[in-house]
This record gives sequence, structure tokens and C-alpha cells, in this order.
Amino acid sequence: MPPHPVLSTEIYVIPLETGRYIIYAPLRKAAFVGNARVVNFLAGLKEGNYDATLDADGSTTEFLRRLEILDAGPEQQPEAVFSDTHDPVSLTLFLTTACNLRCTYCYAAAGDGPVRSMSLETALRGVDFIVQNALKRRTGFIDINFHGGGEPTQNWRVLTGAHDHARRLADQHGLKLTCYTATNAVFSDKQLDWIVAHLQGASVSFDGLPEAHDTHRISANGKGSSERVMHTLRRFDEAGFSYGIRMTVTADMIARLPDSIEFICSRFRPGQIQAEPAYQIGRWAGAPSAETDAFIAAFREAQSRAKKHGCEVTFSAARTGTLTNHFCGATQDLFALTPDGTASACYEVFDEANPRAKIFLYGNADSDGAWKFDMEKLAFLRSHSVDKRDYCAGCFARWTCGGDCLHKALTVCGDDGFSGTDRCNIIRELTKDQILARIAEAGGVCWHGMPGDDEDGNACPNCNEMETKETTS
Ligand code: SF4
Ligand code: SF4
Repeated sequence: MPPHPVLSTEIYVIPLETGRYIIYAPLRKAAFVGNARVVNFLAGLKEGNYDATLDADGSTTEFLRRLEILDAGPEQQPEAVFSDTHDPVSLTLFLTTACNLRCTYCYAAAGDGPVRSMSLETALRGVDFIVQNALKRRTGFIDINFHGGGEPTQNWRVLTGAHDHARRLADQHGLKLTCYTATNAVFSDKQLDWIVAHLQGASVSFDGLPEAHDTHRISANGKGSSERVMHTLRRFDEAGFSYGIRMTVTADMIARLPDSIEFICSRFRPGQIQAEPAYQIGRWAGAPSAETDAFIAAFREAQSRAKKHGCEVTFSAARTGTLTNHFCGATQDLFALTPDGTASACYEVFDEANPRAKIFLYGNADSDGAWKFDMEKLAFLRSHSVDKRDYCAGCFARWTCGGDCLHKALTVCGDDGFSGTDRCNIIRELTKDQILARIAEAGGVCWHGMPGDDEDGNACPNCNEMETKETTS
């Protein structure tokens, strides 16, 4: 036993008002609210100095030991594990750039350019590949996500064909198949029935109050789409179908966010609601930013209203239940196929014209169906973990944020290094809220989560997709 207590974790002090501080040890999933004396006591220990006068009866030391902040064993930093090869068992298909809506803020500007749709042959090649990998790796499962840069149900023949092929192979080989779609939920009742019968879940773009939704989520002839979306949500609820809602918040709709959340929570039963400020790319490039203090205030109000209905609103990069050194699949070998069959690591990048195509597009299959991946590109993407980014080193949110969206970071900061984005302030404020909520839920004195209590998803903030996160060992 050393002569005095020793700090045994990475620790952050987050100031609150009136001389109170959150003491936060993310890697121990521990936090409490303390005063300046405790802060000084810990600051001394960090420098290797023990001031016994700051803990005369030893109770602070005992308390900190219980939280594994002092005198505990070595702590483990989260670290994704990668293999030397690329054998994914999860597949995202960007089925088409066609869309039946013309949302003002569409990141993909769907409908503005020529339509590119995936052939069935391309989709089946991707399915065959993940099935082979699942058998080789003995994972026992495969996952398929249908996605845009347009509305996936607009390429219905390929969506259903890819699913049916995957179902046949999964049954033949005893694999569990999980299939999701992102969607604007504007489709026929026949399509709705098929989705309910065949898919395991959907992520639906819906902005809440009809007047908010219909301002931005409009059809090609300028009509609002809320009636049709709410019809789908009602049918999903009647069928007990699992779905989440993805809300995009533009600057002009921030003030309505709490009412929009209340509207959703009082009428529908989504498994989760994710609210994110609109990303200023595609059709929304140059629009006013919603990554503001007003968004944070509206999000807080929305959350407290949701709570009264037993619901929760999430923000992709604020997730105290998760410890990770990566934000999303883009830096962890995500395998998505563009309409022409090129492998992409990012939900934003579905064609060569994207300014970041050289970074995120990383492979193709040849005419015999043999896949060739640029492993140097994958290595480069994998290297973008939060622990390797200088700017994030002192940020208390780093092990839960994971460095946020790489595509966004590159768009905002360029290729010369990350220097923070407006999202960082949102992430830190909402993470701080979560820490305080966990302390309150744990009785008001301290929070000490147990290892393995990760419960938050890994969501792309730029599109309505929950990512499938697999361990690439
Ligand atoms: S600095 Fe920004 S991106 Fe980095 S960990 Fe903190 S909130 Fe996330
Ligand atoms: S979070 Fe960003 S980097 Fe990750 S998939 Fe989405 S857009 Fe791409």
C-alpha cells in the first residue's frame, strides 16, 4: 500500500454554478458533485501531492476508493479491435438516389440530380459476401440495412429481392437475419404490410408537429407529407412493429422542438426518438445553423416533456452509457454499397462526386464477384479514433462521444486537423446533463455504473440510421 492514496483513473472536473463541480471519471463510469475542497484534494493527488488537511477524517478518501477513483486497479481504455482482413457480416445498401420527397434540408439533395439505382445483381453480390463471411467467421448472424441517398422503398424490387435472397440463405445456413430500413414512411399500404411482415425495424424521418414537418418535408409538388407519415406510424403501432423516429431540427424549428416531441410522445409509440440539428450540406448548404445554445435549451425542455410520457429523446454523440474510442462505423469498417456497387464506409458518401469520396470509398467486386479492398484506406479510417486526436484530449466527453462524425469534422475543419465544431458544445452540455441525471437516478450522491451496462446505440447524426456495430476481430 503506498504511503498515501493514489489517483487511479482519468478524471475531469466540470464546473457548475455556485462553486460546485461535477467530478467525473468516465472510464470508471463514476461521478458525483463536489466542492472546491474535493477538487483541490484531487488536483493535489494528480500532481502526486497528498494534503491530509483536506480530508481530516479520511471519509473523502474512502468515498473515492469506493468509486474506484483512488487506489483501484489499472483502468482499461476502450479500444476497437480490427482484423487484418475485411470480412463484414453487416451490409448497408444505398438502393437509390430517387426520392418521392424533396425535403428542404436533404443532405443528399435527392431528386436534384440524375437518379442512380442499384441493380439486383449488385445487391445480391453484397448479400452473398456477408453470408460467406458469416460462415467463415462463424458469427451465426448477418445484418442488412436499406438506406438512401434517396428513399430505399423507391427501389422496391431490389429491396424485396435482396431481402428474400438473404432470408433464403440465412435459413439454409442457420444464420439469424436482421433487416432494417431507413425511410421517409411515404409508401403504399401494400409496401407497409410487407415491411411489417418481413423487417425487424425501421428508422422513420418525422419532425413532429404537422406544421413543422410540412414546412420542410414536402413532396415533389410541394405538398406536406405529415398525414401520410402519421398513417404509417399509426399502422406500425397497431402492428406492434419496432421503429425509431429521427427528427431533423432546422434553425427555424428549434423553438417548436418541445411541442413537436410532446406531439409525438402523446400520439405514437416509437422505441426511440433521436433529434439532431440539420447538417448544412446538400440542399441545406448555406442555411442558418441549428447547432446553437437555443438548440440545447429546446432539447432540454423537449427531454423533460418526453419524460412525462415515459419517452426519451437522444442525441447521437451524448451517450454516457457507452464507452468507445470511435464515434460510428465509418472508422470501424462499415460496409455499405453505393448504387454502382462500390464499398463505402460512410452514410454520407454514396458516389464518386462526393468531395470526400477518396477517403470513404474503399473497394469493389470484380466481374467474378471477388472483393478487393484498399486496406490502406481502411487503416487510415481506423486511425481516426478519439484517443489519437489532440484536440479531444482534454474533453470530458471524449470516451462517450468518440470524436463525433468524421465526415462532419472534415467538412467543417478540412483535412489539416480537427479544431472543434459547434456540435462539441452541444455534446458537452448534453453529456453533462446525462451525468447529473445518472447521479440523481442513483440516489443523488454519486453514480457508479457497472462494467458492461452500455445501452446506447451508435447512431449516425446525419441520416436516420442506427448503425450496426460489429466487432471486427
Ligand atoms: S472535443 Fe468535440 S469531438 Fe472531441 S470528444 Fe469533445 S465533444 Fe467530442
Ligand atoms: S456519423 Fe458521419 S462519418 Fe459516420 S457514417 Fe454518419 S456521416 Fe459518415
